[in-house]
Amino acid sequence: MKNLPKRTCIGCNEVKLKKELIRIVKNKNGEISVDKTGKAEGRGAYICDNVQCLEKAIKTKKLERNFETKIEIELYENLKKEMSIKNQSKEVQ
Ligand SMILES: [Zn+2]
Repeated sequence: MKNLPKRTCIGCNEVKLKKELIRIVKNKNGEISVDKTGKAEGRGAYICDNVQCLEKAIKTKKLERNFETKIEIELYENLKKEMSIKNQSKEVQ
């Protein structure tokens, strides 16, 4: 078995394969966004494609703490969108 990279979800704190998680990135300018490519430069955080994990992360202010900045509600909306896209593509397969 190949040694695939793993990351911890900021919602459930479970360690999962990096490719199964959605990456959130903070760039040099301090802007936070959903990293759809998983390769954007900057500090990253990872979350499952699961709304429950997102809700946990919101409640515990995990992203705020992780990135040491205020998180706009828009980011959470974008994350939700990204999660539903990911889940839809799973159903197709
Ligand atoms: Zn999770």
